[in-house]
Amino acid sequence: MPFGNTHNKFKLNYKPEEEYPDLSKHNNHMAKALTFDIYKKLRDKETPSGFTLDDVIQTGVDNPGHPFIMTVGCVAGDEESYVVFKELFDPIIQDRHGGYKPTDKHKTDLNHENLKGGDDLDPHYVLSSRVRTGRSIKGYTLPPHCSRGERRAVEKLSVEALNSLTGEFKGKYYPLKSMTEQEQQQLIDDHFLFDKPVSPLLLASGMARDWPDARGIWHNDNKSFLVWVNEEDHLRVISMEKGGNMKEVFRRFCVGLQKIEEIFKKAGHPFMWNEHLGYVLTCPSNLGTGLRGGVHVKLAHLSKHPKFEEILKRLRLQKRGTGGVDTAAVGSVFDVSNADRLGSSEVEQVQLVVDGVKLMVEMEKKLEKGQSIDDMIPAQK
Ligand code: ADP
Ligand code: MG
Repeated sequence: MPFGNTHNKFKLNYKPEEEYPDLSKHNNHMAKALTFDIYKKLRDKETPSGFTLDDVIQTGVDNPGHPFIMTVGCVAGDEESYVVFKELFDPIIQDRHGGYKPTDKHKTDLNHENLKGGDDLDPHYVLSSRVRTGRSIKGYTLPPHCSRGERRAVEKLSVEALNSLTGEFKGKYYPLKSMTEQEQQQLIDDHFLFDKPVSPLLLASGMARDWPDARGIWHNDNKSFLVWVNEEDHLRVISMEKGGNMKEVFRRFCVGLQKIEEIFKKAGHPFMWNEHLGYVLTCPSNLGTGLRGGVHVKLAHLSKHPKFEEILKRLRLQKRGTGGVDTAAVGSVFDVSNADRLGSSEVEQVQLVVDGVKLMVEMEKKLEKGQSIDDMIPAQK
């Protein structure tokens, strides 16, 4: 299992040009943004916890590209990474988040009542609905950088907080360490649990160190509200259920998430947040809301239509395979979710998913009947 070996001070005995990574064959946002001058200027800086520029970029150096998505190619090791290495992160954020400028301000809206519709996605096509986000606990370094002690402290805090939830959110924590291989595989196959640490993105960023120590999943009794502990983020909060009732999924997401935030705040552990970046998370692609709201949707005809990609783009949606970010779509079921995270609110992002998926299902039905969808192609949102 790879580990970060970038905490090496002897590297400063070499000239920047001798240390600068070869990015000539790379296609990720970091490789586009990291000029030699930025490298030279930032390479001897570190955050108060000791995260360096080489730690930030290692995952993007080791993963020149990804078969299905345009990756960011860098991670934050702590909240201060975004400040100390601002000159690198700013252009990456701008590039990844549709021109979001260093002076822009982010919006938060977790009032589920502001969502319009969303309770009537046709379950013959929409097999399941899900909304997730990440949260980082202030004062602790992030998964690419955290120590075993910190990671265990984050786990302890999280379990205490989550165990105090009641009613529809009452649940239990299942540490990875005390699960059997079969139990773990079953949870993965049922789409409840994060994958084993096989993703090269996860490995190269250092996030899989000490696996499975202090990792686990907490969920409510009917597995509709779940929290992953110490995977890519300190916390990943997920609301999901079978069928197409995104309105209910989003309600449970907002209510449960705000309860959790309240408990952490009261215990003296607020989440990392600021006006510019929104919720601060490990991967710059998740800054802002950290929200990915999506459905598993059957689009046998539309997915073969020559305008499929263009339609997704215009609706500000992205697609994945149903086994997670590292999987290609097999057959006709896709994971369709919001493309944006930063600069628009949670409600706005889920609204795009609800409206977009509804339209795509209507298109699918037309194509099934052999009718044209030419007059339904949306304008760019
Ligand atoms: P993320 O990192 O956004 O949580 P991944 O693509 O890594 O998402 O997938 C994590 C897991 O969540 C996978 O098992 C995937 O199948 C499952 N998943 C994602 N979206 C849905 C959905 N709408 N319905 C059911 N399972 C889902
Ligand atoms: Mg993931």
